[in-house]
Amino acid sequence: MENIKPVLIVGSGPTGLTLAAELTRRSVPCRIIDRKESPTTSSRAFTIHARTLEIFETMGIVDRYLDTGIKSFGFLFNFEGLEKKPVLDFRILRSRYPYILVYSQAETERLLREHLEEDHGISIEWNTELSSLVKDDDNTLHVEIKDRTTGDVTKMDPSYVIGCDGIHSFVRKSMGLPFDGEAYEGMIMQMMDTSTECYDCDPDWIQYFMQDKNFLLTTPLPNGNHRILISDMGETAKTEGTRVEAYQQVIDGHGLDFKVVEPEWITQWVIWKRLANIYREGDVFLCGDSAHVHSPSGGQGMNSCIQDAWNLAWKLAMVLRGEAKADLLDTYEIERKPIAQQVIDGTDAMHDIIMAHGRAMTDRMELTETPGWQTSVTELVAGISYTYRAHMEAVSGLSSLEGGPEAGDRAPDVILTGNRRLFSFFGHTGYTLLLMPGEKDTADAEKIADQVTEKYGAFIKAEIIETENAASVADVYGSSAAGRLYLVRPDGYIAFRSSIADEEIFSRYLSDHLIAQ
Ligand SMILES: Cc1cc2nc3c(=O)[nH]c(=O)nc-3n(C[C@H](O)[C@H](O)[C@H](O)COP(=O)(O)OP(=O)(O)OC[C@H]3O[C@@H](n4cnc5c(N)ncnc54)[C@H](O)[C@@H]3O)c2cc1C
Repeated sequence: MENIKPVLIVGSGPTGLTLAAELTRRSVPCRIIDRKESPTTSSRAFTIHARTLEIFETMGIVDRYLDTGIKSFGFLFNFEGLEKKPVLDFRILRSRYPYILVYSQAETERLLREHLEEDHGISIEWNTELSSLVKDDDNTLHVEIKDRTTGDVTKMDPSYVIGCDGIHSFVRKSMGLPFDGEAYEGMIMQMMDTSTECYDCDPDWIQYFMQDKNFLLTTPLPNGNHRILISDMGETAKTEGTRVEAYQQVIDGHGLDFKVVEPEWITQWVIWKRLANIYREGDVFLCGDSAHVHSPSGGQGMNSCIQDAWNLAWKLAMVLRGEAKADLLDTYEIERKPIAQQVIDGTDAMHDIIMAHGRAMTDRMELTETPGWQTSVTELVAGISYTYRAHMEAVSGLSSLEGGPEAGDRAPDVILTGNRRLFSFFGHTGYTLLLMPGEKDTADAEKIADQVTEKYGAFIKAEIIETENAASVADVYGSSAAGRLYLVRPDGYIAFRSSIADEEIFSRYLSDHLIAQ
């Protein structure tokens, strides 16, 4: 891959780190720069959701998180004066990770950094800033990078520039891309990580306590501290006295007995919802917070950033390596922007429950009683039910199939014999072709596997589902007398599915999108 020009990743937050690791796993050269002197040590995001853990599994690092994270059942809602306590119970998830993993963002980033440096040999260039980014009319990029220690400015000629540079993105501004949206007027969020005494909330849940004028969130953190989050219309921020006294007053006001002892970190901020109008300008992409920001309700910000990087990395790599046609890159915005909009809408809906300060508790509770609310919100927040189905190209001429996931859906996991799991097939860097032969077409399945391996073996791995696993796979993926095949993308989403009998259409699909080696 010596002839590939490096990708420049601007920003070493969770987005940049995931992108750098995934490009490097695919032998694509990259530079990752950050204007800061050293890593951020504040905890910020504290929730890692199931889909992100599945991604970490494929990256080979999930156990590092599971070793020390707290597995929370989910969110429990306490409405003042009401008996009933609705929950978003993540134990219902059809994932190997049916919980919210409570973990500090500083630690999440540290483990990603270690993975990048120790497993992939790439170091972050600290104190190094993208100081100029200009695109000519003919799409040529002019990039200047400043060493903030010496003040030296150097030029670079990257293949692509990826703005993983957060909410105030220099990359986005340099491209003149609008970032429209608004603040939640007057609302102030405050957050503290602190040691406590006599913690009297059920530690298995992240708990929300709602009153007329504020809400309080509390949960244990892996280092023994507790996260306390308060939202109101600014009253607590203006309270006289120390922050500890102000927080304690809110805690006492909710009838809780625990005491704040020694805060390790305190912050306050205004909540925004903003979305970039486009995610791509020529060879420049926006990824993570540079493209979208929203309320922290449900703890989805960092998760959707990592999932953006996950979506973009394999596409960039395949195009740069000459394995896929360049229009694959257009699908990044097509797929990820609607997800960001969905997160913005979902967090808005959550706001109506937890932060509708001044609105009657019964009205807010009612919103949690909509049929199917718990399952649909839990699966969305966990990132399990996101689908790109609406944006997949229609393929004509296919015989219809009943049941099973469709193109654009996340390929679900299945437990196989010998305690193996279907997900273990997806651990490599390319596509996986799952062939599920019916009774009579094992020979056809083998023929397809051989043909695909011969043409695309460098980046498509064919797996014929063995007879002893056929029933359990068919339970999840559906079955047809003629057998079926699923082409699973490197990010674990289904690219294409058909009957094995439709092998010619499948073959055409491959040659329309991929470049045989
Ligand atoms: C208080 C708080 C609480 C939060 N709680 C949650 C939560 O519970 N759950 C959740 O999922 N999310 C949460 N979030 C959101 C989460 O922290 C962000 O979504 C996430 O950090 C975004 O990651 P990123 O990598 O896109 O950007 P960032 O983490 O912002 O990283 C951007 C990086 O780019 C660098 N940079 C900027 N400009 C340049 C330049 N010109 N040259 C070089 N480098 C540059 C910056 O120094 C920075 O390191 C919270 C955020 C905050 C502030």
